[in-house]
Amino acid sequence: METPYVVNSVLKRIEPTYTQCTYCNNGIVSSIDDCYFIPLYNEQDRTNVIVYKSVKFQQITVGVTRCAACKKTHADANISGALKAALFFIPAIILCWFLFNAVGFIISFIVVFLAAFYLFGFFSDRQSYKLGVFPEVDGAKESPLVKAFLAEGWTIEKPSA
Ligand SMILES: [Zn+2]
Repeated sequence: METPYVVNSVLKRIEPTYTQCTYCNNGIVSSIDDCYFIPLYNEQDRTNVIVYKSVKFQQITVGVTRCAACKKTHADANISGALKAALFFIPAIILCWFLFNAVGFIISFIVVFLAAFYLFGFFSDRQSYKLGVFPEVDGAKESPLVKAFLAEGWTIEKPSA
């Protein structure tokens, strides 16, 4: 059986060789560089994902097919999310500057930064869905190969030491 993926051992990543876009299901991948590459992490010794038993990495990057239009949608959604996060971040930081002393400001800066990062993800994902396209990570979870790795205990979040 022919596998729709190849292992690129130079870049330590798995590249899809089929061309149907995972994010919109209609688009066709025209360039491997348009694909979304998601890092996956593994703490176990070996993996049983059928074709990739030879993969010994603790971290691998898996390519998720993405057409040029979806790549553009994701870029636009990220800009939209960043702008909305900035609309929260900037006034919140100014307010904290006036409210707290130096130590309080540093602590509140970290809290506000983390909140802004969360808002960035929330708004950019929402914008992708609004435009009819799966967001980058949610869409990656639809990829059969990513699903296979996740079923084997691999994770999207980097394991903490
Ligand atoms: Zn697409």
